[in-house]
Amino acid sequence: MARTITILGATGSIGRSTLDLIERESDRFDVVALTAQRDVDGLAAAARRTRAQRAVIGDAGLYGALKEALADSGVEAAAGEGAIIEAAELPADWTMGAIVGTAGLSPVMAALRRGQTVALANKESLVLAGGLMMQAAREAGATLLPVDSEHNAVFQCFPHDDPARVRRVILTASGGPFRSCTREEMARMTPAQAVKHPNWSMGAKISVDSATLMNKGLELIEAYHLFPVGHERLSVLVHPQSVVHSLVEYYDGSVLAQLGPADMRTPIAYTLAWPERMATPCTPLDLAQVGRLDFEEPDLVRFPALALAFQALREGGARPGVLNASNEVAVAAFLAGRIGFLDIAFIVETVLARYAPTAPATIDEALLIDAEARRVTEDALERKAA
Ligand code: NDP
Ligand code: MG
Repeated sequence: MARTITILGATGSIGRSTLDLIERESDRFDVVALTAQRDVDGLAAAARRTRAQRAVIGDAGLYGALKEALADSGVEAAAGEGAIIEAAELPADWTMGAIVGTAGLSPVMAALRRGQTVALANKESLVLAGGLMMQAAREAGATLLPVDSEHNAVFQCFPHDDPARVRRVILTASGGPFRSCTREEMARMTPAQAVKHPNWSMGAKISVDSATLMNKGLELIEAYHLFPVGHERLSVLVHPQSVVHSLVEYYDGSVLAQLGPADMRTPIAYTLAWPERMATPCTPLDLAQVGRLDFEEPDLVRFPALALAFQALREGGARPGVLNASNEVAVAAFLAGRIGFLDIAFIVETVLARYAPTAPATIDEALLIDAEARRVTEDALERKAA
């Protein structure tokens, strides 16, 4: 029997890689729903190719365009934020959460509450409301599989039956495009230079996060929720080749690592086939060709975003959510040319100093904190411009 599949964020980098895998084995997968925000053409084309039951565009003003693009296709069209959540509520054996940013939280929560399998790429939702998400997954009996390459690597090496065997979880970081740049050089970097990642091809937001190392900071918080070892046992190691995707050190001194090509289709395929394995078109890893693997400590002075994330993780409560929301707004401002590269971490730090709410007890409270953190960030951006 074919597995039923929904992709939230089907038109993005992760969404397209997921579609590539399922379209190669189309008899194994039946598509229930595909969602996007504004890319009507990409969404309609994917829905037609995969004969999806439903295609949903988040921007409600694009409903007419989507309906037209799907004319005579047999695919049902829907639009609006609520329609994305409704699509996530439809039964599907496997759901990919690949919406970028906080916008992914409510749809992913809807999918988790169904108690089926959720493959999660959308790290921002875990950073904002990881405790509440993990609790919802447990209560519904849902299986949450990490797609983020580092967490997928840890998942493959982790002693799920006895986490106490772990001395350290080590997340690797490529160091991003500015790994060897001085602060003076970074100050002059443009959005085009920041999104040009040396190893991975990804969406704009996560590419900027990789350049500031905020991505690794968000991933630390993501790991904290996914793997019950406590923040003291989480660490980051810079590894420019992106071959070792992360490591788990056991208390006997053994270190298990997962290696693979820098192609997200490998971790996505792991979650698609889990607990089995499936073939991928990824170029196999050729270690002789790679030649050497380098490792270095991260530089928290040149990359203050990572230090801010470590601190938010230690402090807990609402700190990670405020960090995440202010970063999302600051990255958008950088991409729009409103602020410089170094201003991103500076703005996040300013917002963390100005806004310190108590920990959210519900998803709605988490979303309110997110909204207020965005407002405070906008205010900080305006003051900076004044
Ligand atoms: P992209 O920007 O490429 O894609 C984002 C997707 O989300 C698109 O389908 C987009 O639709 C949709 N979307 C954007 N805004 C909204 C919104 N407000 N409401 C609903 N849908 C929306 O991002 P990536 O694929 O790179 O990343 C997706 C997630 O996966 C992120 O959280 C990222 O951190 C994580 N991730 C990504 C990796 C990668 O290699 N790319 C690796 C590890 C994690 P539209 O196209 O119409 O705008
Ligand atoms: Mg990652």
